[in-house]
Amino acid sequence: MRIVVVEDEPAIADFLVRGLEAAGYSVALATDGPSGERLVLGGEADLVVLDVMLPGKGGLEVLASIREVRPHLPVIILSAKGEIEDRIAGLDSGAADYVTKPFSVPELLARIRAHLRTGSAEGGRIRAGAVEVDLLSRRAWSGGAEVALSPREFSLLACFARHPGEALSRERLLAEAWGYEHDPGTNVVDVYVGYLRRKLGDPAAIETVRSAGYRLPTGDGR
Ligand code: CA
Repeated sequence: MRIVVVEDEPAIADFLVRGLEAAGYSVALATDGPSGERLVLGGEADLVVLDVMLPGKGGLEVLASIREVRPHLPVIILSAKGEIEDRIAGLDSGAADYVTKPFSVPELLARIRAHLRTGSAEGGRIRAGAVEVDLLSRRAWSGGAEVALSPREFSLLACFARHPGEALSRERLLAEAWGYEHDPGTNVVDVYVGYLRRKLGDPAAIETVRSAGYRLPTGDGR
């Protein structure tokens, strides 16, 4: 996972980069608006941590340029300005989140993890634990290897991938993947979950949640 940090204050940039690298991310740093924009648009960023007050070009302007090219890339705004209007401006311009300085690195890391989970749907791709699905091309991978699924199996896996870590009831899965409004009184969901587990090559790929249904684990214990 590659994170681009755009921050002009050396002390903050330094502890951000070290904190993110210690958490296992690969980090690229830019110290002004224009080079931050180039780094994000020219590279392989999975997430951006973006300061608001930057030399050359402000963070919100950089964010607007990023949004034109990569509408779903998660961007966390980092700013000393904590006023409510600034938060609203940041979120209105498409920031996924807003963190006010001073902030704690563990808190920022928790937010980054949350946004990488939900934000990885960019281009229709969703990752959860070892499973990855592409909603547009309707392809799926487990542990990096492509898995051939029937259309119904894919629809079921896509339901799980849209709600990673959430327990989904049989009724909800029937409604989303089969389009049934009422439980037809079959065990079709259980049968297809069995198919998915086999094809994904891991009985724990879809977890049984007692008396609630099933869920796709996110791989970080949630
Ligand atoms: Ca600044």
